Amino acid sequence: MSPGPDRYAVLGHPIAHSLSPEIHHAFARATGESISYQTIDVSPEQFDDFWRHGEGRELRGANITLPLKVLARDLADRLSPAARETGSVNTLIPIRNGWYGDTTDGIGLIRDLDRLGWSLAARRILIIGAGGAGRGIAFPVARSGPRELVIANRTADRAQQLADDLGRTGLTARGCGLDELQNLEPVDGLLHASAAGHGGQLQLPVSLLQVRTWCYDLSYGEAAQPFMRWAREAGATRVSDGLGMLVEQAAESFFLWRGVRPETAPVLAMLLAMLRDGSG
Ligand code: NAP
Repeated sequence: MSPGPDRYAVLGHPIAHSLSPEIHHAFARATGESISYQTIDVSPEQFDDFWRHGEGRELRGANITLPLKVLARDLADRLSPAARETGSVNTLIPIRNGWYGDTTDGIGLIRDLDRLGWSLAARRILIIGAGGAGRGIAFPVARSGPRELVIANRTADRAQQLADDLGRTGLTARGCGLDELQNLEPVDGLLHASAAGHGGQLQLPVSLLQVRTWCYDLSYGEAAQPFMRWAREAGATRVSDGLGMLVEQAAESFFLWRGVRPETAPVLAMLLAMLRDGSG
């Protein structure tokens, strides 16, 4: 009897609306890899048991999303340098007797900014948010050589902590609270990495923007709309959500599991068409 396709999954809580199965099945079709990929709802309380006694034992790899990325870091037997410095894991790769934990969020963002032609090098960059996503992108953004990097967060101490962590690895950033943004000179690039789009309120001063400022929201779908609307109303002409980053981080996970790098442009186009038709 054939053993069937290798099983992968994205774990989160909630997880039902994830686009990852569509993305990975499209990668598999395009590359001829035989995989199945599903969403599995696992709460933080169930996480350990899932791997020790449950379905986790049958998986050949997993993506991990909110609120499990720190638990996945603790589960991993070995960590990539990126997972170690950001403190979070979004991809588990099997190794002998355990799991290797990596995070592909940072590389996903950098590749999507490349696709858009939006530069980080020698630019003044502002990141809003210092949670998992903010931490995940701050290191690769800082390594891309911005002229200045400011990290602003609702809880100012968390932004300061992230700036200190960057400093310990020889990178430079300044951390502050959202209330200090009104005193900031306009920036060249604004990365919105907070979760405010999921029902919260975020008041940003329009003085942050100039005509050429690009504005990128890591969220996508409804959650990205408030920030993107604010940016357009404030006069920004280069505005994007994080759908491209989602596809790029998935492609990197797929490569880590299968050793094959899928093309991302057709999959992004497929998702955009799906969302436009209301079938996503
Ligand atoms: P998280 O770890 O829970 O962190 C949430 C962050 O948002 C914290 O900085 C928090 O500030 C801030 N925040 C929450 N509500 C806020 C509000 N009402 N006003 C201002 N700040 C608020 O979440 P995360 O993992 O960083 O995720 C953030 C977003 O990035 C989500 O929308 C997620 O979907 C998106 N994301 C996208 C991708 C992709 O591939 N496109 C990958 C990863 C994440 P405090 O520190 O003050 O609580």
